[in-house]
Amino acid sequence: MAKKELVTDGSLVLGGRFVKYQVFYRAKKNIILRVTRRDALAVSLPPRTRLSSREKIEGFLRENEAQILSLLNKFCQKEDEKAQNKADEFKNGFKSVFVLGEKYGVVLSEIGEKGREKAVFDKATKTVFVYVKNKEDVEQVKLVIKKALLSLVKEMCKELNEKCFRDFNALAGVKKKAPLAVITVKNMTSRWGSCTAAKGRISINFRLIHYPRKCIESVFYHEYAHFAEQNHSRAFYDVLKKLYPDYDEANKILKKCKNIYEML
Ligand SMILES: [Zn+2]
Repeated sequence: MAKKELVTDGSLVLGGRFVKYQVFYRAKKNIILRVTRRDALAVSLPPRTRLSSREKIEGFLRENEAQILSLLNKFCQKEDEKAQNKADEFKNGFKSVFVLGEKYGVVLSEIGEKGREKAVFDKATKTVFVYVKNKEDVEQVKLVIKKALLSLVKEMCKELNEKCFRDFNALAGVKKKAPLAVITVKNMTSRWGSCTAAKGRISINFRLIHYPRKCIESVFYHEYAHFAEQNHSRAFYDVLKKLYPDYDEANKILKKCKNIYEML
């Protein structure tokens, strides 16, 4: 991604709406407006633009009020549609969730007020049994499933961490040794994993649990390879491919199969 540098941020009222904005410098020719949330904009300015002060930026935003409101409306409309579709899908039977690339049918049961909400994955029948107080509460059902998935991811991370640690340190030709990394599972929007080599820390994206096993493996090996090379150079990929020859194939699935595997 092109480098961007935050210039300033703030908020103003446009057409009776409270709008937050962030302003970046970005090596592009024109000013670019992009809606990032229901009430927030990112403004990319070409470097050395004349809109350098907050006053000028807000003046520019006011001048373009109509366009901005229309962009915000479109964004909100799309989000509402998405939410509606998900709700409809759920009403007509929230049918399935993918765990390690395998489709599990969802079976909902209601429990009493005092019961403990939980989700249990049954590998044999490829079913997730969800026990909730109110079956209609879509968000709560998802949350219960996600909590159970989180324990699965954590278990898996422990196992993969030890495996990658062993494989990396057994690899010939790598000068540095890797530490047994401290793993954090996170919800990340734009990355599958990250590695802070100096601190021996690796973060893993929670959503990987939906994808086939080789995908989470490939991310682990990718992050471990950063203990050898902290960039994405040729040397980095040489190490990575030695550690995990199926890397490209797994990476392709991660890039192309979001619509198949991610249903929550
Ligand atoms: Zn990387």
